[in-house]
Amino acid sequence: MDEMRRLVDQLNRYSYHYYTLDDPLVSDGEYDALFDQLVALEKKEGQVLADSPSQRVGGPILEKFERVDHEVPLYSLDKAKSFGELEDWAKRNQRILDQAGYGEDLAYMVELKFDGLTLSLTYEEGLLKSAATRGNGVFGEEILPQVRTIENIPLRIKAQDKIIVHGEGLMPLSALEKYNQKAEEKLKNARNGAAGALRNLDPKVTRRRHLKAYIFNIGLYEGRSFKTDQEIKETIQDLGLPLSPYNHLKKNLAGVKEEIEKIGAMRPDLDFLIDGVVIKINDLRAREILGFTNRFPRWALAYKFEAEETTSLLRDVEWNVGRTGKITPTAILDPVEIGGVTVGRATLNNIDDIRRKKLRIGARVLVRRSNDVIPEILGSMGDLAGTKEIHLPTHCPACGTEILTKGVHSFCPNSLSCEPQLIRQLAHFASRDGMDIEGLSEKTSALLLKHFNLSSIADIYKLSQEDFLGLPSFKEKRAENLYQAIQSSKKPRLANFIYSLGIHNVGIKSSRDLAKHFKSFAALRSATKEDLLQVPDIGEIIAQELVAYFQEDHIRKSLEEFKALGIEPQKEKAVDPRGQALEGKTLVITGSFDQPRKDLKNRLEALGAKVTSSVSKNTDYLLAGDNPGSKLQKAQDLGIAILGPDQLLDIIEGGQDEEG
Ligand code: NAD
Repeated sequence: MDEMRRLVDQLNRYSYHYYTLDDPLVSDGEYDALFDQLVALEKKEGQVLADSPSQRVGGPILEKFERVDHEVPLYSLDKAKSFGELEDWAKRNQRILDQAGYGEDLAYMVELKFDGLTLSLTYEEGLLKSAATRGNGVFGEEILPQVRTIENIPLRIKAQDKIIVHGEGLMPLSALEKYNQKAEEKLKNARNGAAGALRNLDPKVTRRRHLKAYIFNIGLYEGRSFKTDQEIKETIQDLGLPLSPYNHLKKNLAGVKEEIEKIGAMRPDLDFLIDGVVIKINDLRAREILGFTNRFPRWALAYKFEAEETTSLLRDVEWNVGRTGKITPTAILDPVEIGGVTVGRATLNNIDDIRRKKLRIGARVLVRRSNDVIPEILGSMGDLAGTKEIHLPTHCPACGTEILTKGVHSFCPNSLSCEPQLIRQLAHFASRDGMDIEGLSEKTSALLLKHFNLSSIADIYKLSQEDFLGLPSFKEKRAENLYQAIQSSKKPRLANFIYSLGIHNVGIKSSRDLAKHFKSFAALRSATKEDLLQVPDIGEIIAQELVAYFQEDHIRKSLEEFKALGIEPQKEKAVDPRGQALEGKTLVITGSFDQPRKDLKNRLEALGAKVTSSVSKNTDYLLAGDNPGSKLQKAQDLGIAILGPDQLLDIIEGGQDEEG
C-alpha cells in the first residue's frame, strides 16, 4: 500500500504539472510507464486508492478560466502497445457482444491519435458559442476567445441545431519551427506549444502560435442520431468542420493492423505530432452495448507508438571544433533509451540555443529522437535549483587559440594549424561531392596529418605509394589504392573543386551554381561581389565570404600550390549533364530508405532538384521508399510519376555515364 500511495502521489503531481500548469516534469513515456506500474499493482492487490489517476480523466482546472460543465462528458482512451494487446481488446469486446446477443461483424474506424489539447466546441443557432478544454472530463475551462484564433475552426456553420463536437488543437511542426527561430524562450515541443497557447489568458499569444484543429467526433447533434462512426465523420465534413484527412474504415483486425503500420510509416511526414492511432468500433449499437468504464469507452483503443521523447540528466557540455573552425557544443547525457536506441549525446547548436532552451549542467532535460534524426534537446524540465550555468569557452578546446565570436557563432581562427580543423578540412576536400578521393575518410585524414606532419592539404599529392606503406594497417593494396585515388583526382569538375575548398556557407548547390555561371576557376577567383550577386541563388552572405576567401594570403598561396602540383579543375561545359538530370524538377520523398533522408535530400538537391514536403500538382516525381505514406496515394491520384530507389539510381548514374 505504501508503494501504491507513493505512485499515486507521484502521478498526481506529474498530472498537475502536465494538465494544469502545461509544464510537465517528465516525458509522456515515463509517465505512462509509472501509470502501467500503478494499474498492475492495483490489479494485484485488488485495491484502488480514491484519488488514483486510474479512476479519473485529466487533472484539476485553472481558476483563472470560467468553468464549463460538459453536457457530454469527455473521456480518456484505453491504451495498447502491441498487436497482442490489440487482439486482447478485440476479444474482450467480442465476448461482451456475444453475451448480449449482438450478431454482426465488427468494422473499425482507424484514425490518427493527435497529440495536442482536447477541444469541445458547442455550436448553437449556427454560431460557435463555447469552446472548452477537457479538464477532468466532467467540467473544463472556457477558452472561446483563444479557440477563435484557430483559423480552420469555423465561427459559423450552416446547421441551426445545437451541436457539440470534440477534437484536438495542435501546433503544426512547421509553425513550431518558425516560432522557435525567433522566440526568446523556445517552446519545448508542439504539444506544449498548443496546450500553453490555448490555456493562455491572452488570445494574442494563442494567435501567434498559428494553431490548427481537427474534429473527430460529434458528441451531440440535437434532433439527430447516428448509426455509425462513418456517418459521424461524413457529417463533420458536411458541417464544414475540419475533419482529419486520415480516417480508414477496416472490415477486420488484419486490416486495422495493416493501417497501423501504414500510419506508423507516414508519421515522420506529418506536419503535426501524433502519438499513435485510435481504433473505434464503427457501429454505434455495438458501442452502446460495450459502454464506458469511469475513464474510457470500451469500444475505442489508442494504439500507442514508440515514444520519441524522454528525459535525462545533462551531465556536461563538450565543445568541439568543426572544419570551418566553428565551435559547437554537444550535450553529454546520462544514457537513455529512445525507440530502442541508447542516446548519450545530443547536438546543441550554439550558446544562444543553450540559453533560449534554459539548459544548465545538472538539469533534467527533454530529449527527442525521431527517425534518423540526430538526438536533440528540447528544453529543461522542472526545478533548476542546484544546477550550473553553461559557459562558452574563451579558448579553442583543441589548440588553445582565443575564440572569436560572430553573432551567435564562435570560431577558432587558427585554421592553419588547429588539428581537428585540418582533419575535417582534409576529409571534406576528399569527400564524394569534393575531390572524391576514395579511402580518405576522416580517420585516414587524421592518420595522414599526424604521421606525415602535413602542413597543407596540397601536401597529400606529394606523398608516394611507399610513404603510405609506412602507415599502420596499410598493406600493398591499400597503399596503392589510396595513392591512385589521390593522383587520379587531379582533374576535378569545377563544381566539385569549389566545394572541396570548404568555403564558409558554400555547399554543393552553391558550388554548382557558381561553376555553371563562371565556367572557369580563374573567372570565379577574379569575380567581384557584384559579379557574384549576378548568380541566381547567390546572396550577400556567400558573395562576401567568397570575396574575403580569395583575398586571404594563405589561401592564395595554397591555390598556387595546387596549380603547381597539376591540380586543375575542368572548365564547365555548356551544360552539366549530371546536374541536368533533375535540374528544375520538384521532388517529394516518402517512406524509408537505406540512407538517412537528410543525405538523400542533399544528394537530390546537388543534382538540381527542388525537394519539397508535400505532394501537389507542381510535383514532378514522388520518390517512394519502403512503407510509403499517404503521399503515395495522393501522387497516384494526381498522376505524378513515382520513382523507386532503383529508378532514382538510374537517373543519377545515367547522368554520370553521360559525363563520361
Ligand atoms: P490520451 O491523451 O492519451 O488519450 C485521450 C485523448 O486522445 C482524448 O482526450 C482526445 O483528445 C485525444 N485524441 C487524439 N486523437 C483522437 C482521435 N482520433 N479520436 C479520439 N480521441 C483522440 O489520454 P489522456 O488520459 O488524456 O492522457 C494521457 C496522456 O497524457 C498520456 O500520453 C500521458 O503520457 C500524458 N500525460 C503525461 C504527463 C507527464 O507528466 N508527462 C502527465 C499526465 C499525462
